[in-house]
Amino acid sequence: MSDIVFYDTRTRSKQPFAPLEPDCVRMYTCGPTVYGPQHIGNLRSQLFPDLLRRFLEREGFAVRHVVNITDVGHLTDDADDGDDKMEMAAARAGRSAEEIAAHWTEHWRQNREAVNCRPPDVLCKATEHIPEQIELARTLEKGGHTYRLPDGIYFDVSTFPRYAELAHLDLEGQAGGHRIDEVAGKRHPADFALWKFAAEGVKRQQEWDSPWGRGFPGWHLECTAMSSRYLGETFDIHTGGIDLATVHHTNEVAQAECATGVHPWVQFWMHNEFLDFQGVKMSKSLGNVLTLDDLVAGGLPPLAFRYFFLQAHYRQQQTFTDEAIQAAATGHRRLCAAAAPLRDAKGVPDPERVAPYRDRFRAALCDDLNAPRALAVAWEVVRAEELTPADRYALIEDFDTVLGLDLLAEPEATPVETDPRIDALVAAREEARARKDFAEADRLRDQLAAEGIAVEDTPNGPRWRRT
Ligand code: AMP
Ligand code: ZN
Repeated sequence: MSDIVFYDTRTRSKQPFAPLEPDCVRMYTCGPTVYGPQHIGNLRSQLFPDLLRRFLEREGFAVRHVVNITDVGHLTDDADDGDDKMEMAAARAGRSAEEIAAHWTEHWRQNREAVNCRPPDVLCKATEHIPEQIELARTLEKGGHTYRLPDGIYFDVSTFPRYAELAHLDLEGQAGGHRIDEVAGKRHPADFALWKFAAEGVKRQQEWDSPWGRGFPGWHLECTAMSSRYLGETFDIHTGGIDLATVHHTNEVAQAECATGVHPWVQFWMHNEFLDFQGVKMSKSLGNVLTLDDLVAGGLPPLAFRYFFLQAHYRQQQTFTDEAIQAAATGHRRLCAAAAPLRDAKGVPDPERVAPYRDRFRAALCDDLNAPRALAVAWEVVRAEELTPADRYALIEDFDTVLGLDLLAEPEATPVETDPRIDALVAAREEARARKDFAEADRLRDQLAAEGIAVEDTPNGPRWRRT
């Protein structure tokens, strides 16, 4: 029995984790809707699966990670009403939806890279998988799960008795945030569009022919269609922000399980909690958003945000404040500074001395990915007097494969200054030290200090820099 336990939203419990296929974990993450910049709350929903992936890889699993790009069909209202976010952004900018999508996809990709998220194995776009989505909707139609309304083809949730299971919805009480009058003719407030017709007289940029008429797919269809295409009928882990559980993920389950008959479709549903800002969830619609670019413009390195993310458990709401991100930046800088001298460590680590630290680090992550506890073990390592530099180096190098904080990276190369006169003074100080003339060595060091030159002794000889 595996000693890794993850919290699963469906069963509302921590469950031992073992992949369906030995040695290979298949996971899917809901990616961005690429009509504008992603904020740092959205980025939390990318950092979380990255941490998960890195941990599973450290455990020796091969991980196949699929992330989607929503570039069509995500409406401003979850209940199949409102405008298509992509079409709106394109109209506003006077550009094609494709250009808008390409621009923001690249922006998102660069943000992920800046915080050291490993690239997904498959990055798939909804617009490049229209036939798969039509095929899935046809299967559901053949299975008697759909009905037609003037504006589209709808999924009939009464045909799927487990509909409320994932998010523990109270369907009688109309949970899920829907109102029945949002779309005229809906049989149940939770029924959702599989295919929407382009509105009469409106020429959309993004529309396709289908067996039901010209139009575009409903938002939920893409994730079910693309995850089955790249991961198979069932897979291990599906991630996303907690707000997706009640509607988007619930609808994904309905589509998948009705199309194939499998149950459970996904072994583990893992959801990250919100990043809050100014007292509420950071959200575009509320307008309280910050992007990674905003943080960088304020002088913060992107990895300060990764460090900040690691300071909270992924299922805890995390509050973003200026003080909190500054404290994270300081924490990150100090941990890097404490780890920096280890780059020159000589010798081999002692397996018995390092084992308890490795065990504690692993135990933290095995317990539903407890990053704050794992980070605390990294701090213990840099401070532990019983460890040699070689022990510490081995541990930090290992832990950083999961933390992803570049703890042992060479600092940004500052251009090396040369000055023959100062080189000569530094060399003279070395010679004085070599002949044990410490008074002369100290005199030369003081002279250099008076000129604003600091000398550092490294295993490769002395290095100087202006202070
Ligand atoms: P979207 O681009 O709106 O489809 O959202 C992309 C992802 O970000 C989804 O998984 C959302 O659940 C997640 N998300 C949105 N807002 C937040 C937030 N404030 N904190 C954490 N995750 C969020
Ligand atoms: Zn999705």
